[in-house]
Amino acid sequence: MKLKKILNKEQKKKWESLKREVLETNRALPKKGLVIETFGNASGILRFKKISLVVIKPSGVDYDSLKVEDLVTVGIDGKKLDGNLLPSVDTPHHLYIYRNLKQIGGIVHTHSLYATTWACTGRPIPVYNTTHADKFGGEIPCAPYADNRDNHIGKGIIKYRKKEVPAILLEKHGAFIFGTNAKKAIETASELEFVAKIALHYLLLCQVLNRSPKEMSKREATLWRKRHLPGGGYGQT
Ligand SMILES: [Zn+2]
Repeated sequence: MKLKKILNKEQKKKWESLKREVLETNRALPKKGLVIETFGNASGILRFKKISLVVIKPSGVDYDSLKVEDLVTVGIDGKKLDGNLLPSVDTPHHLYIYRNLKQIGGIVHTHSLYATTWACTGRPIPVYNTTHADKFGGEIPCAPYADNRDNHIGKGIIKYRKKEVPAILLEKHGAFIFGTNAKKAIETASELEFVAKIALHYLLLCQVLNRSPKEMSKREATLWRKRHLPGGGYGQT
């Protein structure tokens, strides 16, 4: 049955709005310097009582030529509900994350330069500065390498993610970033890239200066993060 016939007026409105947001987020990926070619994707989810709709980029389509009608809508089980193209090959990973993190509404996956450079090492990004602490509150974890069969990537993300940290690196691969919606997830993806870049430069500078890198303490990092969260004093009330 056509999805348009299943949804009521209000649900259709929300679905159309989600598609616009997912389109804008995917189109913003290369503009923000987070992807080249087609190395990344964004999705969003609507969780209605009887059905969940996941809107995601189609596989292998250029961001510049991407149109709202190209987007694919699938159910939480992966069944295609709307769209003429094939969904991103990363759809099973997005779905696995949505099934396990009920509080999130958007996911961005990138192979951005600095985050992926860190991911190559298989090591987390330690907190070296207040920018990192503000945005992530702790080290950005790195899940061990996983191939892209079955739910291997999704399982690794859920197992190794840190509860309060909205991003995770995947060894030798890239990063997955979560948010309350796709727009929030891409903001965090940019912040992750920035933080990964600073961390790399810091370590290089430490080598040049023959100094040992120093991490911020957990206590300090938590304090910075708390101040940055809603109600913590940052921004306008
Ligand atoms: Zn990937």
